[in-house]
Amino acid sequence: MKIDVLTLFPNMFEVPLGESIIGRARKKGLLDINVLNIRDFTQNKHKKVDDYPYGGGAGMVMQAEPIFNVLENISAKDCKVIHMSPKGKIFSQSIAKELAKEERLIFLCGHYEGIDQRVIDYWVTDEISIGDYVLTGGELPAMVVIDTVSRMIHGVLGQEESYTDESIYSGLLEYPHYTRPSDFRGLKVPDVLLSGNHKEIDSWRKQKAIEITKEKRPDLYEGHIKKHKQLF
Ligand code: SAM
Repeated sequence: MKIDVLTLFPNMFEVPLGESIIGRARKKGLLDINVLNIRDFTQNKHKKVDDYPYGGGAGMVMQAEPIFNVLENISAKDCKVIHMSPKGKIFSQSIAKELAKEERLIFLCGHYEGIDQRVIDYWVTDEISIGDYVLTGGELPAMVVIDTVSRMIHGVLGQEESYTDESIYSGLLEYPHYTRPSDFRGLKVPDVLLSGNHKEIDSWRKQKAIEITKEKRPDLYEGHIKKHKQLF
């Protein structure tokens, strides 16, 4: 997948998108991530990219001209241009699943009071919020979406890892994990996990997933029960 990110703060992306699973996927060529500095595309001789809002009010607004220039320069017309915004649709695993099917995504990160509406009206195909709170800029939200989508692309997770039986995607929260030692300061791993009986381990994990979901996310639990009733 090819991903372009438009931002005023490209350095913010270096470590989160350069390390671990995403970093390895980029090295393997599964992800081609290109972070563009909007400031490099302004015609303004002082490299100014924002101005006061028409009608007055606090804060600065990111101007249309440099953002139009970047989007024209990277030929953005035939793919999804995603504006990270608290006014957007709340991000979820199912939105990530849809986005993971695309060949190319462009992320537009706002800052200050936001972006001149004409950019949004002309270019933006999707607006996504990562939750009902306001951050300083769209950079962290874009990274959240890129990370979530990237790990759903075939080959990004190792063979032994899978997103399909993880929390949320499966419809339930995941069962608890334990690793060595089996007895840590008297805190013991449940016997069933040491039994080697895979049938029993599977059924313990299913049961735990149901219990945890019922306790922590009754909304998901209700959905699981409804789905189960329809199946049988
Ligand atoms: N004035 C805007 C409003 O009230 O809707 C908020 C601007 S916010 C300070 C600056 C930028 O952060 C936004 O343009 C957007 O790109 C990003 N942002 C803030 N909260 C966000 C959220 N919950 N989800 C996605 N992006 C967000």
